[in-house]
Amino acid sequence: MKLLIDRILQDGRSLPGGILKVDSFLNHQLDPNLMYKVAEEFSRRFAGKRFNKIVTIEASGIAPAIMMGYILQLPVVFIKKKQPKTMDNMLVSEVKSFTKNRVYTVCISRNFLTPDDHVVFIDDFLAYGNAALGMIDLACQAGATIEGMGFIIEKGFQGGGDRLREMGYDVQSLAIIDSLDDCKIMIRGNQ
Ligand code: 5GP
Repeated sequence: MKLLIDRILQDGRSLPGGILKVDSFLNHQLDPNLMYKVAEEFSRRFAGKRFNKIVTIEASGIAPAIMMGYILQLPVVFIKKKQPKTMDNMLVSEVKSFTKNRVYTVCISRNFLTPDDHVVFIDDFLAYGNAALGMIDLACQAGATIEGMGFIIEKGFQGGGDRLREMGYDVQSLAIIDSLDDCKIMIRGNQ
């Protein structure tokens, strides 16, 4: 997606350890126009699928997911990274965080992920695929079906995309980073 690629090249910063910092439009300050365009592109890419719900994970997946939910008039559920004391009936899984280097518990209410649900999962980044595997585990527990997975930025060199595609998932990434070596951002299809 050209608009996104141009923005990553303009505002993104490559940090040591294979981390891309895009906090001026995605991870801290948010650009609603870009998020809307991203959501339109996801809606277009998943137009051939039948799904009734969008699932994401807090915090940075929520902005694109809610825009997509608005466009398609579908409910949006976000997986929580802390189990709320006030909620029972939760499905729980564990996810290894790439950026924070620790394991955390994620959860979603059985009321909002059920065997009747066909969902598209949306997130900001795909790195090793751990968050997506957490989603797959929760969907399995719920008996829900994952129709596709959409990521704004995939870091192709960290292998999560290959892993998920080998598992048979329809993975759509709007920008694929091939390398962040030497503080240079190399984006697939843009060389
Ligand atoms: P994964 O679970 O695929 O290993 O990593 C994806 C999650 O880690 C995303 O939800 C995102 O929050 C975070 N993440 C992974 N790589 C990056 C990165 O390069 N930059 C930022 N800002 N977040 C990342």
